[in-house]
Amino acid sequence: QVPLKPGRSLMDWIRLSKSGKDLTGLKGRLIEVTEDELAKHNTKEDCWICIRGFVYNVTPYMEYHPGGEDELMKAAGTDGTDLFDQVHRWVNYESMLKECLVGRMAVKPIAAPKEISSTLSEDKKQLNGMLPEKKLPGASAKDLTPSYNWFQTDSLITIVIYTKQKGMNAELVIVDCQDKRLRGEIIVDDHSYVVEVDLDHAVQDNVAVTFAEKVGKVEIILKKKDNIHWKMLGQPLESHNTFIKRMDRGLFYRKCKLVSKMEVTHDTKLFCLMLPKSTHLHVPTGQHVYLKQIIAGTEVVKPYTPVLPYLPLDFKQPSPSDGAHIYLMIKIYSCGLFTQALDHLQIGDCISVSNPEGNFKKSQVQTSEDLFLLAAGTGFTPMVKLLNFALTEVSCLRTVKLIFFNKTEDDILWRNQLEQLALKDERFEVQFILSQPTKDWVGKEGKISSSFLSEFVKRSRKDSKVLICICGPTLFTEQGVQYLKDLGYSQEEIYAFTA
Ligand code: FAD
Ligand code: NAD
Repeated sequence: QVPLKPGRSLMDWIRLSKSGKDLTGLKGRLIEVTEDELAKHNTKEDCWICIRGFVYNVTPYMEYHPGGEDELMKAAGTDGTDLFDQVHRWVNYESMLKECLVGRMAVKPIAAPKEISSTLSEDKKQLNGMLPEKKLPGASAKDLTPSYNWFQTDSLITIVIYTKQKGMNAELVIVDCQDKRLRGEIIVDDHSYVVEVDLDHAVQDNVAVTFAEKVGKVEIILKKKDNIHWKMLGQPLESHNTFIKRMDRGLFYRKCKLVSKMEVTHDTKLFCLMLPKSTHLHVPTGQHVYLKQIIAGTEVVKPYTPVLPYLPLDFKQPSPSDGAHIYLMIKIYSCGLFTQALDHLQIGDCISVSNPEGNFKKSQVQTSEDLFLLAAGTGFTPMVKLLNFALTEVSCLRTVKLIFFNKTEDDILWRNQLEQLALKDERFEVQFILSQPTKDWVGKEGKISSSFLSEFVKRSRKDSKVLICICGPTLFTEQGVQYLKDLGYSQEEIYAFTA
């Protein structure tokens, strides 16, 4: 992010785009754009960019782009789809830039639209039993493509997915069933398999999911509303029976109810959201979700990292997450567009929550002997589940050290719980470092630096296996990674949480 000029916030952009001003210079016309035409609009004063086959005049948006004008200019006059996907594919550009739409690319889009599955002629068939597998662009070898089948009893419908992948678990399966629309997604490495149908008959609210880990079989069990015989499972929907790269799958949202909101510090709250009964979703350690709200008529999306309801002190107990709720620890910024709207939600209101994303792998921790967590402000959030996972399930861990950077004492999240944990578990240690302490602070003072890191990040043995996870404001993370590399830590020993 770069500092924006006053009057150039997202809210200001929303206001401008709603003002009725002609932002494309085409007086409301939509045109077909050739590659040659697109290439001509490549200056700051006249900048067109193609995203997924649609061309936008982003000149009026330049000064509002949180990443700065230069970043936007990298795609000037070209297809910016890949660049866009690398940086912020979760941003709803269709909604944000709808007033800047110039038209479609002529002849053929440069990048294929997302979510358009191929071989859809099969989909015209009614679903009745096993369908042939579909191979899609980007899918791995045919023999790795999952397949499905279904069967019924008087009261149940069971959809069986053969993932051809060992070690299936609750975190790799996401199921939603609403208004007869069933969507089941299976994560297989960096690919995703989706079963998506408009069910033939109504089912009850609750969905059960079971796994046969060794054979990679997943069962989605639905209860029929009426005990009648189904002739078919239902009509296939757009993404049905597709196996594509996770990155290429659009985000799927479901509405969750806000059930409680508790103060953590003067500006940070713990939001508890309840998943619908018909949703099966577990957010894996180290991953985040996106929340979506309509603010002043525009869809705004921001990422948040689920935490636990509290830090368990006794790691022999099962994790306190029950699978039915998502807990989010969120700092409310006084000028923050999204967090202000979030703070105004009432208990019982609903908000859209996406499927999880993120590339952190728990296996990175599983072989570590020393784990260092460098967190700044709400950059603490991914560390919560990570800490719980490490202390509960990683037997080779000798030390876990959290180095927590905050502005003032009042900003420290879950300080009491962290101190209790350090007393209780001798493997765990916490160090607080304040950048704006009051005079009576007796602890460490300053910002992330090479000297702090050389003091606190030390292997417990000369050759011990180390993992250092870092999360916080972008500059904090960037500086931290650089200092760690300067201190001799390798890329594999460092994991930085970013967008
Ligand atoms: P914004 O409207 O974006 O503004 C926030 C503050 O920054 C305001 O004070 C604003 O004035 C200032 N600001 C914004 N943009 C600029 C700019 N370009 N120049 C100068 N100042 C600016 N946050 C949490 O609280 N909890 C989490 O668990 C969490 N998880 C995250 C996970 C990921 C992967 C990422 C990338 C971020 C996460 N965040 C988390 C941050 C979160 O996504 C939002 O950025 C945050 O909530 C602020 O949103 P907002 O719309 O309220 O604020
Ligand atoms: P903050 O402004 O309260 O700062 C907390 C501490 O961060 C400061 O005391 C300081 O030590 C350090 N810091 C801040 N700015 C710095 C800079 N420019 N250079 C070096 N150190 C700096 O923090 P906050 O308001 O709680 O913000 C937390 C940040 O963490 C947000 O930017 C949020 O987007 C990010 N975050 C990212 C993820 C993720 O997974 N990527 C998850 C959660 C939060």
